[in-house]
Amino acid sequence: MGKRVSKLKPEVLEKLTKQTKFTEAELHQWYKGFIHDCPSGKLSFEEFQGIYRQFFPQGDSAKFAKFVFTTFDENKDGTVEFEEFIMALSVTSRGSLDEKLNWAFQLYDLDDDGYITKTEMLSIVEAIFSMVGDAVNLPEEENTPQKRVDKIFGLMDKNNDGRLSLEEFLIGAKGDPSIVQALSVYDGLV
Ligand code: CA
Ligand code: CA
Repeated sequence: MGKRVSKLKPEVLEKLTKQTKFTEAELHQWYKGFIHDCPSGKLSFEEFQGIYRQFFPQGDSAKFAKFVFTTFDENKDGTVEFEEFIMALSVTSRGSLDEKLNWAFQLYDLDDDGYITKTEMLSIVEAIFSMVGDAVNLPEEENTPQKRVDKIFGLMDKNNDGRLSLEEFLIGAKGDPSIVQALSVYDGLV
């Protein structure tokens, strides 16, 4: 009985072998685990949030989990299906730096208009601060979300228009390891 649902459809498997960096065997393994933890095949926000709570028991991870969930949920139907899960996992765990940064850009660009505004970045950075809480020791000049966002914009917003294009984001993130570090907060989670 359980066998039927724990098999990936051949056409899905073929597609995912092409579009992710996982082998067929790995995809089968991940699918088995996914269906085991989530028999409905659709990860709800509550389940997703539960994963973050395990990793950050001291902090408030709800907001950050919501942002990440929304980025995973590519078709915006309010749940994360296996395909969405594995695509995001492929990029965040095995993607090149450019692929990871492109993914992060989508995370930060909340209204999906192709630019990260200060307000958007502030929302994410505040969510990260609430989640990691005291676990992170930042230098004085970036120890509040606002200061950190100001610093990041100072480094990245080359044309000073108060928002970051993908190009500014990519160039800036490569020049500032702390951005990539902030991403790795997330990296270890999936
Ligand atoms: Ca979805
Ligand atoms: Ca935006």
